Amino acid sequence: MTAKIISGREVAEHILENELSKKVEELKGKNIIPNLVVILVGEMKASASYVAQKEKFAAKAGIKSEVRRFNSEISENEILSEIDKINDDPLIHGVIVQLPLPDHISVAKVLNRIHPSKDVDGFTPNNVGKLFLGEDTLVSCTPKGIMQMLRISGTDLNGKNVTVIGRSNIVGKPVSILCQSENATVTMCHSRTKDLNHKLSDADVVIVAVGVPKFISGDQIPEGAVVIDVGIHNIDGKLCGDVDFDSAKEKASAITPVPGGVGPMTVCALIENTIIAAERINSAWEDSNFWPLASEANALSNWATGAKKDSN
Ligand code: NAP
Repeated sequence: MTAKIISGREVAEHILENELSKKVEELKGKNIIPNLVVILVGEMKASASYVAQKEKFAAKAGIKSEVRRFNSEISENEILSEIDKINDDPLIHGVIVQLPLPDHISVAKVLNRIHPSKDVDGFTPNNVGKLFLGEDTLVSCTPKGIMQMLRISGTDLNGKNVTVIGRSNIVGKPVSILCQSENATVTMCHSRTKDLNHKLSDADVVIVAVGVPKFISGDQIPEGAVVIDVGIHNIDGKLCGDVDFDSAKEKASAITPVPGGVGPMTVCALIENTIIAAERINSAWEDSNFWPLASEANALSNWATGAKKDSN
């Protein structure tokens, strides 16, 4: 069997140009211009290229985007007060902090400071909690993009077995919750999982987010499974994923390539989240005393940090 290739690039272009740009036009008719701010700290080449892709996709959908660049010496407090300013700016609807951050800055503190209504990466405890509870929320972008790809490739998850390899907060855990909410039976694997091959043997869908180049090969994939490869690695100037594409495509019924698979769908989901946030912020703004958001975000952030201390 040679797999159908699920092109994230093509799907993302289609969604941006046909669905999201129409939505943006409608909002512009109401004087709402979705506006995304990206905070970029330091000079990492990979981060700069991810940010450039976000700007390109924002332009394709017709939303506003701005990159606020800081040198790597910036203090944690300076970043936090930048986020406070963004939280309180009614013309900004989404903010993301490009990771990684320099070691002297706490990622948790910075991400928790973002008001949940502007957390278009879906990383704050509030949004993650809502996702867990099955409530409507800003869903983190990579899992959201993966679910869109599964839908578009015609993969109905109802009653299917999904094996997720990797349990990170940004990919493995949220995607497993989303698959369960579509009635899949999910097996979560991680570095301590025993007999990974057995866990893969009855999978209808395999989602790999491990961070090890070509970690899964074709002989581990059940015949006819759908394979979603989240990993991205640059090996001697050539990009590859966590799955050995050449061998896996001979066993899978459908597979995502790297590059051009999950990556573009992640960015597309970010743009969609910004549009959703713009709609929601504007209706809340019209309906109530929603502002200022910074003080509320600070309270939530203190709560999240305090809750963490309590659990240690
Ligand atoms: P992460 O935070 O490093 O988590 C890796 C997960 O893999 C952990 O849960 C780890 O288990 C598990 N793992 C490591 N070695 C394993 C092994 N030998 N057997 C089974 N499980 C193993 O990674 P991440 O942030 O989820 O990212 C994973 C990959 O996806 C990376 O290559 C990253 O660059 C890429 N990524 C791509 C996108 C995109 O948009 N395309 C977005 C996000 C991430 P433990 O929990 O036990 O340590």
